[in-house]
Amino acid sequence: MTVYTCSKRLAIISVLSAAAAAGAAFVHAQQAAQPPSAQSSPPPAKPGDLGFTDTPMLPGLPFHVHDVARPHPPVVTPGASAGAPPSDAIVLFDGKSLAKWSNVDSQGKALDPKWAVRDGYFEVVPKTGSLVTRESFGDVQLHIEWATPKEITANSQGRGNSGVMLMGFYEVQVLDSYNNPSYADGQAGALYGHWPPLANAARPPGEWQTYDIVFEAPRFEGEKLVKPAFTTVIWNGVVVHNRKELAGRTVYRNVATYAPHEAELPLTLQDHGNPVRFRNVWVRRLSAYDSQKGK
Ligand code: MG
Repeated sequence: MTVYTCSKRLAIISVLSAAAAAGAAFVHAQQAAQPPSAQSSPPPAKPGDLGFTDTPMLPGLPFHVHDVARPHPPVVTPGASAGAPPSDAIVLFDGKSLAKWSNVDSQGKALDPKWAVRDGYFEVVPKTGSLVTRESFGDVQLHIEWATPKEITANSQGRGNSGVMLMGFYEVQVLDSYNNPSYADGQAGALYGHWPPLANAARPPGEWQTYDIVFEAPRFEGEKLVKPAFTTVIWNGVVVHNRKELAGRTVYRNVATYAPHEAELPLTLQDHGNPVRFRNVWVRRLSAYDSQKGK
């Protein structure tokens, strides 16, 4: 029987780990180098390749570790470039039409959208009211691009103000915050009235900017709030909110509180009187883990 000292054992483990890492890196490099059409047929499956049934149960889950019967997630084809909609996105604006949107009158009646569409973007027409999706959403991933007016005609909250209102109630502020002092919880990227962004990632006025937002809708049971809303915001590639809890519906000069509402509601873009532009708007409904079967 071979007796290994502790240091020898560690050395062997270290050599094996390095070899495994090198092998993994080689496989990854090969996968990256080969386009799908050039790949040869895969080797036959070995026991355990597709999972196990003799492993411990995962705590709190109806699955074994590496469970062979665990549903596979759906296949989604990513967009061809950063910001392009993946295959399962609902495209809310494709550069041409506001067919997925309406303006809403004071009685809540949906009207044909009055905002202007030109050259691949749409623009707030002041005093026509906020733009509202015809479809309702709850938990979502949202991508939206926006640009505030190049010409500076006002300051603070009057400069390029609009807003992405999740469910019509929870605002991620849109504002020209490039060298434009205003109160911190009202600048661009703020969860308006409560949380300033973790960083000011503003581009100059007139330039296109991106928001990638992950929103978890609040849950109510009757009149009671059982789970608050959470918002993650990535602004121009910078994380500015990391699953931040919301205190309630966005309000001005007051403290937010919750009031019960439907599980899904339209997304709203705010008419704050400034001709802010938007383009490439898409949304994905978020599903729960293990809730969808892949194809
Ligand atoms: Mg606003």
